Amino acid sequence: MKVGIIGAGTMGSGIAQAFAQTEGYEVFLCDINEAFAANGKKKIAKGLERRAAKGKMTQESADAVLSKIQTGVISICQDCDLVVEAAIEDMAVKKQTFQELKDICKKEALFVSNTSSLSITELGAGLDRPVAGMHFFNPAPVMKLVEVIAGLNTPPEMITEIKKIAADIGKVPVQVEEAAGFVVNRILIPMINEGIGIYAEGVADPEGIDSAMKLGANHPMGPLELGDLIGLDVVHAIMEVLSSETGDPKYRPHPLLKKMVRGGKLGQKTGSGFYQYKG
Ligand code: NAD
Repeated sequence: MKVGIIGAGTMGSGIAQAFAQTEGYEVFLCDINEAFAANGKKKIAKGLERRAAKGKMTQESADAVLSKIQTGVISICQDCDLVVEAAIEDMAVKKQTFQELKDICKKEALFVSNTSSLSITELGAGLDRPVAGMHFFNPAPVMKLVEVIAGLNTPPEMITEIKKIAADIGKVPVQVEEAAGFVVNRILIPMINEGIGIYAEGVADPEGIDSAMKLGANHPMGPLELGDLIGLDVVHAIMEVLSSETGDPKYRPHPLLKKMVRGGKLGQKTGSGFYQYKG
Protein backbone atom coordinates (compact mmCIF):
# COMPACT_ATOMS: atom_id res chain seq x y z
CA MET A 1 0.00 0.00 0.00
CA LYS A 2 1.25 3.49 -0.87
CA VAL A 3 0.81 5.96 2.00
CA GLY A 4 1.15 9.72 1.61
CA ILE A 5 1.92 11.77 4.71
CA ILE A 6 1.34 15.51 4.65
CA GLY A 7 3.58 17.35 7.12
CA ALA A 8 7.05 16.06 8.00
CA GLY A 9 7.19 17.48 11.52
CA THR A 10 7.17 15.62 14.84
CA MET A 11 4.13 13.51 14.00
CA GLY A 12 4.43 13.20 10.21
CA SER A 13 7.95 11.81 10.43
CA GLY A 14 6.97 9.42 13.24
CA ILE A 15 3.94 8.19 11.32
CA ALA A 16 6.10 7.76 8.21
CA GLN A 17 8.44 5.53 10.21
CA ALA A 18 5.56 3.54 11.70
CA PHE A 19 4.34 2.65 8.19
CA ALA A 20 7.78 2.18 6.60
CA GLN A 21 8.88 -0.31 9.24
CA THR A 22 5.92 -2.57 8.38
CA GLU A 23 6.18 -4.86 5.39
CA GLY A 24 3.95 -3.93 2.47
CA TYR A 25 3.95 -0.15 2.91
CA GLU A 26 5.69 2.49 0.79
CA VAL A 27 5.75 6.03 2.17
CA PHE A 28 5.59 9.45 0.46
CA LEU A 29 6.51 12.08 3.06
CA CYS A 30 5.61 15.67 2.10
CA ASP A 31 5.94 19.16 3.48
CA ILE A 32 5.57 22.70 2.13
CA ASN A 33 8.94 22.33 0.42
CA GLU A 34 11.39 19.57 -0.43
CA ALA A 35 13.92 20.69 2.22
CA PHE A 36 11.40 20.41 5.10
CA ALA A 37 10.34 16.96 3.88
CA ALA A 38 13.99 15.87 3.62
CA ASN A 39 14.55 17.14 7.18
CA GLY A 40 11.74 14.89 8.37
CA LYS A 41 13.46 11.91 6.79
CA LYS A 42 16.79 12.95 8.37
CA LYS A 43 15.08 12.93 11.77
CA ILE A 44 13.87 9.38 11.13
CA ALA A 45 17.39 8.37 10.00
CA LYS A 46 18.90 9.73 13.22
CA GLY A 47 16.43 7.80 15.37
CA LEU A 48 17.07 4.59 13.46
CA GLU A 49 20.83 5.11 13.70
CA ARG A 50 20.52 5.40 17.47
CA ARG A 51 18.50 2.16 17.59
CA ALA A 52 21.09 0.39 15.41
CA ALA A 53 23.94 1.69 17.61
CA LYS A 54 22.17 0.30 20.69
CA GLY A 55 21.81 -3.08 18.94
CA LYS A 56 18.00 -2.82 18.85
CA MET A 57 18.00 -3.28 15.07
CA THR A 58 20.57 -4.01 12.38
CA GLN A 59 21.93 -1.26 10.14
CA GLU A 60 20.53 -3.22 7.16
CA SER A 61 16.98 -3.10 8.52
CA ALA A 62 17.39 0.61 9.37
CA ASP A 63 18.50 1.23 5.77
CA ALA A 64 15.59 -0.87 4.47
CA VAL A 65 13.09 1.31 6.41
CA LEU A 66 14.64 4.51 5.03
CA SER A 67 14.67 3.18 1.47
CA LYS A 68 10.86 2.89 1.65
CA ILE A 69 10.41 6.64 2.34
CA GLN A 70 10.40 9.13 -0.54
CA THR A 71 10.22 12.85 0.21
CA GLY A 72 8.82 15.82 -1.68
CA VAL A 73 5.78 18.09 -1.93
CA ILE A 74 2.10 17.15 -2.06
CA SER A 75 2.17 16.19 -5.77
CA ILE A 76 4.14 12.98 -4.99
CA CYS A 77 0.94 11.59 -3.38
CA GLN A 78 -0.78 11.07 -6.73
CA ASP A 79 -0.67 7.26 -6.63
CA CYS A 80 -1.28 6.85 -2.90
CA ASP A 81 -4.00 4.55 -1.56
CA LEU A 82 -4.09 6.29 1.82
CA VAL A 83 -3.13 9.88 2.73
CA VAL A 84 -2.53 10.85 6.36
CA GLU A 85 -2.74 14.60 6.86
CA ALA A 86 -0.36 15.65 9.69
CA ALA A 87 0.19 19.35 8.97
CA ILE A 88 -0.18 22.03 11.65
CA GLU A 89 -3.31 22.08 13.85
CA ASP A 90 -5.14 24.71 11.81
CA MET A 91 -8.55 24.04 10.25
CA ALA A 92 -7.94 26.30 7.22
CA VAL A 93 -4.56 24.69 6.43
CA LYS A 94 -5.96 21.17 6.78
CA LYS A 95 -9.06 21.90 4.65
CA GLN A 96 -6.92 23.49 1.94
CA THR A 97 -4.64 20.43 2.01
CA PHE A 98 -7.58 18.05 1.46
CA GLN A 99 -8.88 20.24 -1.40
CA GLU A 100 -5.45 19.99 -3.10
CA LEU A 101 -5.28 16.23 -2.45
CA LYS A 102 -8.73 15.77 -4.01
CA ASP A 103 -7.38 17.12 -7.33
CA ILE A 104 -4.13 15.13 -7.15
CA CYS A 105 -5.15 11.70 -5.82
CA LYS A 106 -7.18 8.91 -7.35
CA LYS A 107 -10.88 8.66 -6.47
CA GLU A 108 -10.49 5.59 -4.23
CA ALA A 109 -7.66 7.04 -2.13
CA LEU A 110 -8.60 7.15 1.56
CA PHE A 111 -8.13 10.52 3.32
CA VAL A 112 -7.49 10.63 7.06
CA SER A 113 -6.34 13.35 9.44
CA ASN A 114 -4.04 13.08 12.43
CA THR A 115 -5.75 16.12 14.00
CA SER A 116 -5.60 16.21 17.79
CA SER A 117 -8.87 18.00 18.30
CA LEU A 118 -10.54 19.42 15.19
CA SER A 119 -13.94 18.38 13.81
CA ILE A 120 -13.62 15.51 11.31
CA THR A 121 -17.01 16.48 9.86
CA GLU A 122 -15.78 20.00 9.10
CA LEU A 123 -12.48 18.71 7.67
CA GLY A 124 -14.46 16.61 5.20
CA ALA A 125 -16.99 19.31 4.24
CA GLY A 126 -16.98 20.18 0.52
CA LEU A 127 -14.85 17.20 -0.47
CA ASP A 128 -15.70 14.47 -2.97
CA ARG A 129 -15.09 11.73 -0.40
CA PRO A 130 -15.38 11.11 3.34
CA VAL A 131 -12.60 11.84 5.82
CA ALA A 132 -11.82 9.92 9.02
CA GLY A 133 -9.63 10.72 11.99
CA MET A 134 -6.55 8.53 12.42
CA HIS A 135 -5.00 9.98 15.54
CA PHE A 136 -1.52 8.71 16.42
CA PHE A 137 0.37 9.53 19.62
CA ASN A 138 3.86 10.85 20.14
CA PRO A 139 6.33 9.20 19.50
CA ALA A 140 4.29 7.57 16.73
CA PRO A 141 6.64 4.62 16.01
CA VAL A 142 6.38 3.56 19.67
CA MET A 143 2.95 4.52 21.03
CA LYS A 144 0.38 1.76 20.60
CA LEU A 145 -2.86 3.74 20.51
CA VAL A 146 -4.55 5.10 17.40
CA GLU A 147 -7.89 6.82 17.97
CA VAL A 148 -10.08 6.21 14.89
CA ILE A 149 -12.73 8.91 14.55
CA ALA A 150 -15.83 9.01 12.38
CA GLY A 151 -17.27 12.31 11.22
CA LEU A 152 -20.94 12.68 10.36
CA ASN A 153 -20.34 11.49 6.79
CA THR A 154 -17.71 8.81 7.41
CA PRO A 155 -19.13 5.41 6.41
CA PRO A 156 -18.66 2.47 8.82
CA GLU A 157 -16.74 0.54 6.12
CA MET A 158 -14.09 3.26 6.05
CA ILE A 159 -13.73 3.10 9.84
CA THR A 160 -13.36 -0.69 9.61
CA GLU A 161 -10.69 -0.29 6.92
CA ILE A 162 -8.71 2.32 8.93
CA LYS A 163 -8.88 0.15 12.06
CA LYS A 164 -7.56 -2.76 10.00
CA ILE A 165 -4.64 -0.68 8.69
CA ALA A 166 -3.84 0.58 12.20
CA ALA A 167 -3.75 -2.99 13.53
CA ASP A 168 -1.63 -4.07 10.55
CA ILE A 169 1.13 -1.60 11.53
CA GLY A 170 1.08 -2.89 15.11
CA LYS A 171 -1.24 -0.32 16.69
CA VAL A 172 -4.32 -0.77 18.83
CA PRO A 173 -7.21 1.17 17.30
CA VAL A 174 -9.89 2.60 19.57
CA GLN A 175 -13.02 3.93 17.88
CA VAL A 176 -14.09 7.30 19.17
CA GLU A 177 -17.04 9.53 18.33
CA GLU A 178 -16.36 13.03 17.11
CA ALA A 179 -15.83 15.36 20.09
CA ALA A 180 -13.34 18.14 20.78
CA GLY A 181 -10.07 16.51 21.88
CA PHE A 182 -11.59 13.02 21.42
CA VAL A 183 -10.71 10.92 24.52
CA VAL A 184 -7.01 11.23 25.33
CA ASN A 185 -6.51 14.95 24.69
CA ARG A 186 -9.74 15.89 26.45
CA ILE A 187 -8.13 14.51 29.63
CA LEU A 188 -4.41 14.98 28.98
CA ILE A 189 -4.14 18.53 27.59
CA PRO A 190 -6.16 20.25 30.38
CA MET A 191 -3.90 18.38 32.84
CA ILE A 192 -0.80 19.89 31.17
CA ASN A 193 -2.48 23.33 31.19
CA GLU A 194 -3.16 22.87 34.93
CA GLY A 195 0.51 21.91 35.50
CA ILE A 196 1.52 25.16 33.78
CA GLY A 197 -0.87 27.08 36.06
CA ILE A 198 0.62 25.43 39.15
CA TYR A 199 4.11 26.43 37.99
CA ALA A 200 2.96 30.01 37.21
CA GLU A 201 1.53 30.33 40.74
CA GLY A 202 4.92 29.34 42.19
CA VAL A 203 3.53 26.22 43.87
CA ALA A 204 6.51 24.14 42.68
CA ASP A 205 9.25 24.29 40.03
CA PRO A 206 9.01 22.19 36.81
CA GLU A 207 11.13 19.35 38.22
CA GLY A 208 9.00 19.30 41.37
CA ILE A 209 5.71 19.23 39.45
CA ASP A 210 6.92 16.50 37.10
CA SER A 211 8.40 14.38 39.90
CA ALA A 212 5.19 14.72 41.92
CA MET A 213 3.06 13.40 39.06
CA LYS A 214 5.51 10.63 38.19
CA LEU A 215 5.90 9.40 41.74
CA GLY A 216 2.47 10.26 43.11
CA ALA A 217 0.25 9.37 40.15
CA ASN A 218 2.54 6.81 38.51
CA HIS A 219 2.65 8.78 35.23
CA PRO A 220 5.67 7.90 33.05
CA MET A 221 6.22 11.61 32.32
CA GLY A 222 5.28 14.74 34.25
CA PRO A 223 2.90 17.31 32.68
CA LEU A 224 5.55 19.93 31.88
CA GLU A 225 8.04 17.55 30.26
CA LEU A 226 5.14 16.03 28.34
CA GLY A 227 4.04 19.51 27.18
CA ASP A 228 7.60 20.11 25.96
CA LEU A 229 7.55 16.78 24.10
CA ILE A 230 4.15 17.35 22.46
CA GLY A 231 5.01 20.96 21.55
CA LEU A 232 3.53 23.89 23.48
CA ASP A 233 2.03 25.31 20.26
CA VAL A 234 0.14 22.04 19.82
CA VAL A 235 -0.98 22.10 23.49
CA HIS A 236 -2.14 25.70 23.03
CA ALA A 237 -4.02 24.92 19.80
CA ILE A 238 -5.86 22.02 21.46
CA MET A 239 -6.84 24.14 24.50
CA GLU A 240 -8.21 26.78 22.10
CA VAL A 241 -10.32 24.13 20.32
CA LEU A 242 -11.61 22.67 23.62
CA SER A 243 -12.44 26.18 24.78
CA SER A 244 -14.17 27.39 21.62
CA GLU A 245 -16.05 24.12 20.95
CA THR A 246 -17.43 23.76 24.48
CA GLY A 247 -17.59 27.42 25.60
CA ASP A 248 -16.57 26.11 29.02
CA PRO A 249 -14.14 28.47 30.85
CA LYS A 250 -12.40 25.50 32.48
CA TYR A 251 -10.61 25.00 29.14
CA ARG A 252 -9.07 28.52 29.06
CA PRO A 253 -5.39 28.26 27.93
CA HIS A 254 -3.21 29.50 30.79
CA PRO A 255 -1.67 32.96 30.10
CA LEU A 256 1.82 31.50 30.64
CA LEU A 257 1.16 28.89 27.94
CA LYS A 258 0.13 31.70 25.56
CA LYS A 259 3.24 33.70 26.47
CA MET A 260 5.59 30.76 25.86
CA VAL A 261 4.04 30.12 22.44
CA ARG A 262 4.26 33.81 21.50
CA GLY A 263 7.92 33.79 22.60
CA GLY A 264 8.73 30.74 20.43
CA LYS A 265 9.51 28.54 23.45
CA LEU A 266 7.69 25.50 22.13
CA GLY A 267 9.57 22.73 23.95
CA GLN A 268 11.91 20.09 22.52
CA LYS A 269 11.39 21.13 18.90
CA THR A 270 12.75 24.64 19.50
CA GLY A 271 15.33 23.58 22.11
CA SER A 272 13.57 25.47 24.89
CA GLY A 273 10.31 25.16 26.81
CA PHE A 274 9.93 24.39 30.51
CA TYR A 275 13.35 22.72 30.13
CA GLN A 276 16.36 23.38 27.88
CA TYR A 277 17.35 20.85 25.17
CA LYS A 278 20.63 20.40 23.32
CA GLY A 279 20.92 19.68 19.59
P1 NAD B 1 4.94 20.11 13.76
O1 NAD B 1 4.89 21.59 13.91
O2 NAD B 1 6.07 19.35 14.34
O3 NAD B 1 4.87 19.74 12.19
C1 NAD B 1 3.95 20.27 11.31
C2 NAD B 1 4.56 20.18 9.92
O4 NAD B 1 3.55 20.52 8.97
C3 NAD B 1 5.70 21.18 9.71
O5 NAD B 1 6.84 20.49 9.20
C4 NAD B 1 5.15 22.17 8.69
O6 NAD B 1 6.13 22.70 7.83
C5 NAD B 1 4.15 21.28 7.95
N1 NAD B 1 3.12 22.01 7.24
C6 NAD B 1 2.47 23.13 7.59
N2 NAD B 1 1.59 23.48 6.65
C7 NAD B 1 1.68 22.54 5.68
C8 NAD B 1 1.04 22.35 4.43
N3 NAD B 1 0.11 23.19 3.99
N4 NAD B 1 1.40 21.28 3.67
C9 NAD B 1 2.34 20.40 4.10
N5 NAD B 1 2.99 20.54 5.29
C10 NAD B 1 2.66 21.60 6.05
O7 NAD B 1 3.52 19.58 14.31
P2 NAD B 1 3.18 18.11 14.83
O8 NAD B 1 3.38 18.05 16.29
O9 NAD B 1 3.81 17.11 13.94
O10 NAD B 1 1.59 18.12 14.60
C11 NAD B 1 1.02 17.80 13.35
C12 NAD B 1 -0.43 17.39 13.56
O11 NAD B 1 -0.49 16.24 14.40
C13 NAD B 1 -1.30 18.45 14.21
O12 NAD B 1 -2.60 18.37 13.70
C14 NAD B 1 -1.27 18.02 15.68
O13 NAD B 1 -2.39 18.49 16.40
C15 NAD B 1 -1.31 16.51 15.52
N6 NAD B 1 -0.79 15.73 16.64
C16 NAD B 1 0.31 16.16 17.34
C17 NAD B 1 0.79 15.37 18.39
C18 NAD B 1 2.03 15.78 19.18
O14 NAD B 1 2.28 15.18 20.23
N7 NAD B 1 2.81 16.73 18.71
C19 NAD B 1 0.17 14.15 18.70
C20 NAD B 1 -0.92 13.73 17.94
C21 NAD B 1 -1.39 14.53 16.92
